[in-house]
Amino acid sequence: MRYQLGSDQIPQAWFNVAPHLPEPLAPPLHPGTGEPVGPDDLAPLFPMALIGQEVSAEEWIPIPAEVLDVLSLWRPTPLVRATRLEQALGTPARIYYKDESVSPAGSHKPNTAVPQAFYNKAEGISRIATETGAGQWGSAVSFASQLYGLECQVYMVAASYRQKPYRRVMMETWGGQVVPSPSNLTEFGRQLLKENPEHTGSLGIAISEAVEDAVGRADTHYALGSVLNHVLLHQTVIGLEAKRQLAEAGEGLPDVVIGSCGGGSNLGGIALPFVPDRNEGVRLVAVEPASCPTLTKGTYEYDFGDVAGMTPKLLMHTLGHDFIPPPIHAGGLRYHGDSPIICNLVHAGWMEAVAYPQGKVFEAAVQFARTQGSIPAPETSHAIRAAIDEALAAKESGEEKVILFSYSGHGLLDLAAYDDYLNGRLIDA
Ligand SMILES: *Cc1c(COP(=O)(O)O)cnc(C)c1O
Repeated sequence: MRYQLGSDQIPQAWFNVAPHLPEPLAPPLHPGTGEPVGPDDLAPLFPMALIGQEVSAEEWIPIPAEVLDVLSLWRPTPLVRATRLEQALGTPARIYYKDESVSPAGSHKPNTAVPQAFYNKAEGISRIATETGAGQWGSAVSFASQLYGLECQVYMVAASYRQKPYRRVMMETWGGQVVPSPSNLTEFGRQLLKENPEHTGSLGIAISEAVEDAVGRADTHYALGSVLNHVLLHQTVIGLEAKRQLAEAGEGLPDVVIGSCGGGSNLGGIALPFVPDRNEGVRLVAVEPASCPTLTKGTYEYDFGDVAGMTPKLLMHTLGHDFIPPPIHAGGLRYHGDSPIICNLVHAGWMEAVAYPQGKVFEAAVQFARTQGSIPAPETSHAIRAAIDEALAAKESGEEKVILFSYSGHGLLDLAAYDDYLNGRLIDA
């Protein structure tokens, strides 16, 4: 069963959770001085509009008409009740998922790539530099940049660049320039390549390169696809639409809201609009890989966002900025830190976190594909695993709970991972 809003029902404002958090957000610290960063420190990287959103205390921030116009290419996205999965599980729970895979790039990421490109263009920037792991963020930025007439330079983690050519082809189709990272376009990249010409790269290294690129050129800004407050803000269209659609489905509030967590953007998108409903008993759940257990095993402290230590330090759960996670298939969840907003909620006990090894995640992915039809991204499958386990717990207890999760992206460019799983080659890290 599918619940589809009309094209005039896209939210007209983003929901800013800042005034609802258990503790005020701690300020980012300058990487050199250790002092709180001000707008001027961030100006070489981001347009003022986004810096303003990063620190805003307004509960609602209007979405510009030019942004709504592009979002309407695929929004509102459907809310689907997974009745066939429910039947297969024999659960009394009702499972709903918000289908963000219908965007042009196939994930939730264009929800923020589009406004980021828009605000950069509006402030006279003509080029964006960014990083990408498996290619999902890079494809979202390439697409959004193209629509606003911006150049786009993507630093793609070298291992993925070699193993996953199709995301690169998507980026190039949308006009993005893609290089394997470490690259010889930056000082940091050249240094790493000198030490090891076969360097396979990491997300933290690619971030360092994109930041160095942006800082070095007046026409260029940097775009980050997760972690920062303005990114989670842009993603709240997911949860805002889902709330309306649940009402249309005849449900009240969900009992539990679930999202996979890499940097926290899709989780924030679906979950933050429900933070004020905590008093009504809505549970919020973050799901991460056991091999990169930032929220479940990391320490809560200030750390850098990148490997080179060029970004401001953020207060977050972290595994250490030099942590290089094993090469699991959910490339989008291999990040050493997490969004300060998500960490703030987890630290205060307002959000739960669970971690799963990838074997159990793929088992859930295949069960989903064999009941609902759609083949989920490995990242998304973490949320599916948790949703299935919640539904099985409801079966034990006979509880009629309502489960909502973010179907953050499709897995049609991740079929090599399915091939590994189906043929017993998956390392169960
Ligand atoms: C990038 C990505 C994620 C994880 O990133 P968040 O910032 O935590 O949202 C999850 N699912 C998909 C499909 C992704 O592309």
